[in-house]
This record gives sequence, structure tokens and C-alpha cells, in this order.
Amino acid sequence: MAIESVNPTTGERVRTFEPEREAAIEAKLARAAAAFRDWSRRPLAERAAVVARAGEILEAERQTFGRLMTLEMGKLVGAAGDEAAKCATACRYYAENGEAFLRPEIVGEVPGGRDAVAFDPLGAVLAVMPWNFPFWQVLRFAAPALVAGNVGLLKHASNVPQCALALEDLFRRAGAPEGVFQTLLVGSERVEKLIADDRVAAVTVTGSEAAGRAIGAAAGAHLKKCVLELGGSDPFLVLASADVDRAVATAVKARVVNSGQSCIAAKRFIVADAVYDRFAAAFTAAMSALVVGDPADARTQVGPLATAGIREGVADQVARSIAAGARLLTGGRMPAGPGWFYPPTVLAEVPPAAPAAREEVFGPVAALFRVPGTDEAIALANATTFGLGAAAFTRDRGEADRLARELEAGSVFINQMVASDPRFPFGGVKRSGHGRELSRFGLREFVNIKTVRMTALD
Ligand code: NAP
Repeated sequence: MAIESVNPTTGERVRTFEPEREAAIEAKLARAAAAFRDWSRRPLAERAAVVARAGEILEAERQTFGRLMTLEMGKLVGAAGDEAAKCATACRYYAENGEAFLRPEIVGEVPGGRDAVAFDPLGAVLAVMPWNFPFWQVLRFAAPALVAGNVGLLKHASNVPQCALALEDLFRRAGAPEGVFQTLLVGSERVEKLIADDRVAAVTVTGSEAAGRAIGAAAGAHLKKCVLELGGSDPFLVLASADVDRAVATAVKARVVNSGQSCIAAKRFIVADAVYDRFAAAFTAAMSALVVGDPADARTQVGPLATAGIREGVADQVARSIAAGARLLTGGRMPAGPGWFYPPTVLAEVPPAAPAAREEVFGPVAALFRVPGTDEAIALANATTFGLGAAAFTRDRGEADRLARELEAGSVFINQMVASDPRFPFGGVKRSGHGRELSRFGLREFVNIKTVRMTALD
């Protein structure tokens, strides 16, 4: 895949980058190793101050960073600025809490010594990242990893090279010493060799199931620690006691967040028979009324998809779902003209074997399912190979507790849409991956949890 910025709104190629040559990659790996020796020994407060400063820059320059996201992957201008600001919250969170999360846990005082568990950094962490949240995905690995004393090597998605370079520049300006955070402009074919390198201690990937399989296999082959944050086909349950108006308004937002290109966007809408007709009519009307257009225009609600390939993939999944028996309620027709636009689309009566029921659809396409009641809703929600997030609408407390227990997902949200937050762990089960990001659990993915037992010191 070429490393280039192509504006998804116009289809125009903006800039092309040569993949880095072997000598440049070798120099960066050597710099990372040297930087780790120094950075890991610096006081935690010093490392936290650099991450905090990165957060201040992200906040102050949110519009500039946001414009880059809009240019390279078509993010709505307001959401793009908000993404940069959200990155600042993760920087602040780890700068403020890193010391508490990394403080050794004292297991016991013993004569002439102490038993403890310490949290030491691992080394250079390679991050293979996706384009859909080009800043947020990177900061949620980088902020905890750097505070813990690791150094970062970023291999970003090939369609967001300018975001990748801006992130390297961000950490340099925040005061990170040379080699602490570096971007490698390389294609996916170079990743396995990077994982094999002794100077890379661990790898974290956020991306598709296919990328997760390839990187997880390489990490296994080279015995490297690995975090996999992969795809999802999140269910959104609307049960008989739900506030239907609230469910509809939230459902629309949850499906078209980031123009439908979010791992935790709701994708399968599972609705109890008692409220199905009301929900389906209001949801379809609201999806049809969304404003699709230029992401730089603040009135736009759905922008273009990020690449021509993604749009073709979504159109193909819709066509195959209709061929399998799904009924098209709105959308489904690719517009003429420049840019990778695709309309908000609703499919009903989706058969279990159809792509919209079985695969992750990475665009503004909702699949509706009618179920008799709660038992069937939970069974259908769990009838997927994925397990990232799940949302459910109910006003019954007992049912809410049951849903929280029985939905197979890394997070369950009741009467609200699934969203990430630095204070809470983020990740999946089943083929959505393993390991966690954010919170103290995310920070602990990138440390050597070390037993330290001392005795007979005096
Ligand atoms: P992608 O095609 O898998 O790419 C993600 C990253 O992996 C890119 O840097 C890509 O490099 C690299 N990559 C792809 N195939 C690879 C391989 N065989 N070996 C090594 N590296 C490889 O995914 P995407 O289209 O950018 O992002 C969308 C996917 O990410 C969706 O499935 C979404 O659900 C998932 N996602 C998950 C989370 C989460 O936290 N669980 C968050 C956001 C997105 P190139 O660009 O050079 O190919």
C-alpha cells in the first residue's frame, strides 16, 4: 500500500511519501534503544511532565491537528478538534496518575528487607495503528507507555502519514529526548521484521482482525508481548421497557459516529417485538434525515469514508446482505461525484448468514433485528465472533444487571452509547482481541511486573 495522503472528500492525492529505507529504519531502532536506557532511568515526574506538555499542545492546537485529520481521513471538523482535545485528557490522566499506578506494591515488611511487586518498563513498544482515530489511538498507547518509561515506535496506517509525522513532532516539541517517540513511515509488509528485532520489546496493534492475526502470529513467533485491539460488530439492544425516543436518538449517534467508522459504533440493532415498529420507523426517518457532505462544513453530520476501498467494501457488504434476503429501508445507493461518500443505510429482516449480521461493517450501515424478548435479544447479541462493546436500553434494574453480566463484551453500557474514557479499561473478548488500553490496566500492559524480595540487609 502506498504511503500517501488522499483527500477522501475530493479523491485528490495530496502528498506521497517514500517508505523509509533500511538504513533509516536501522538508525531509528538504534536511537530507540539508546533513548530507552536514558528515559527509563529518569524520574517518573520528568517523564510525566513531557506527557502533560504534549497534552497542553494538543489542546492548544486542536484545530490545526483536527484539520490534518479532516484532510487525510475525512473526519468531521468538530469531531476532529474534539479528538485532539480528548487526547489531552489521556495525557493529563497518565501524567497525574502514573506515579500512583507505578508505585511498588508492598506485600510485606520482613526482617532486614521487604517483599514487593515493582512495575518496570519493557523497552521500545511498537504501535501499529489505524487511521480511524489517527490521534486518539496513538495517544492512548503513547501516554501510558511513555510515563511508564518505555519508548514508542509508531507505524501508522499508510493513509495518514501527515498525522503520523505530526505526532512525532508533537512529542519532540513537548520535550521528549531524541528517540523517545519516533514515527516509521513503512508499509505493513515491514512490520514482522520490526517485531523480530531484539530492540523491540512489545507490540500493540489496533486494527482489523486480519492485521491482528498477522501481528499476533509474528509476536508469538518471536515471543514478544502483544496487545490486540481489533474489530467489532457491537450490538445495541432495545428492550420492551426502553425509553424508545432516547434509544432512537442514541442509536443514530452510535451508528454514524466517525461516519460509521468506529470499532465501537453500534452495528446490530436488536429490538424487542413490543417496541420494534416504533423504533424502526423513527430510527429510519432519523438516519434518512442526516446531512451528508463536506466534513469541513460544521453542519455536516456524515462525511466521506476514509478510502475508496472502504467504500467499495461497505457497498459490497450491503449488496450481499440484500441478496441474502435483507430489506433495504433507506440509503444503499452510492452517490455519483467525487469523494468516497456513502449514505446512511438501514437494513431490516437481516438473515443470520448475511454479511451485515456476521461481519464488521465499517460505514454508516445499520442492521435491524426483531426479537420476541430479552432471552432472544441476549442470545442474538452474543451470536457473533466479536466482543468489543455492547449497549442496551431498558428501564428495568434487574434486567440491566442481567445484561451487564450476560453480554459477552469488553464493556456494557446501559441507556447510553459505548464510548472510551481514560479512566476505564478498553478492549475486547473473542475475536475483538486481548489485552486492555486506558486506566491502570492499560498502563500495566507495558510493564515488567517484577517480584522483588529482599532480606538479610542488616
Ligand atoms: P487495518 O487495515 O487492519 O490497519 C491497521 C494497521 O495495521 C495499519 O497500520 C496497517 O498498515 C496495519 N496492518 C494491516 N495489515 C497488516 C499486516 N498483515 N501486518 C502488519 N500490519 C498490518 O485496519 P484499519 O482499516 O486501519 O482500521 C479499521 C479496523 O480497526 C477496524 O476493524 C476497527 O474495528 C479496528 N479498530 C479497533 C479498535 C479497538 O480499539 N479495538 C479501535 C479502532 C479501530 P497499512 O495501513 O500500511 O496497511
